[in-house]
Amino acid sequence: MEALRYCPACGGRLVRRRPEGDDHDRLVCDACGRIHYENPKLVVGSVCLHGGRVLLCRRAIEPCRGRWTIPAGFLELGESPEEGAAREAFEEARARIRIEGLLAVYSVRRIGQVQLIYLSRLAAPEIGPGPESLEVALFDWPAIPWDELAFPTVHWALRRAKAIDGRDGPLVPGTNPGGRDPTPFPPGPEAA
Ligand code: ZN
Repeated sequence: MEALRYCPACGGRLVRRRPEGDDHDRLVCDACGRIHYENPKLVVGSVCLHGGRVLLCRRAIEPCRGRWTIPAGFLELGESPEEGAAREAFEEARARIRIEGLLAVYSVRRIGQVQLIYLSRLAAPEIGPGPESLEVALFDWPAIPWDELAFPTVHWALRRAKAIDGRDGPLVPGTNPGGRDPTPFPPGPEAA
């Protein structure tokens, strides 16, 4: 995450210091005194199932171009997380989805993200690559390219969805396995 250097309000220089009464250092504008808070960003997405198969997208953009992922991305202002997850499914896979429930909440402190991953179903069978995808496809569980996934949290979300697929009962959201932060995948041949 690149920190701001200049004040978005007045263009003044930002310095990192601890405002009175605060217990964190903050970016404070030298000129106008505004405090610019830095907080984690929300990523929303879904593991989308259709007829026992899983929707995956092969990334056309960095990072991890060429690797497979679930449709997910940054939540936009004015959206609910469910709306954001549905938008991402359409943007990346031209998929119309129905959200079933929250599958997992993952914390990725290293890059300042909290990820809300839903379980969803295709509402219509049509899919196709959006501009950020090289291709999209539905995979049977055994055919998932586990070694070519883009991010550790994609791996976690798919494993979790696989474990509960076909089971009855309420959907209980998962969290980081073992409470640990995800370890970045080593760069693959195409990501190198
Ligand atoms: Zn300022």
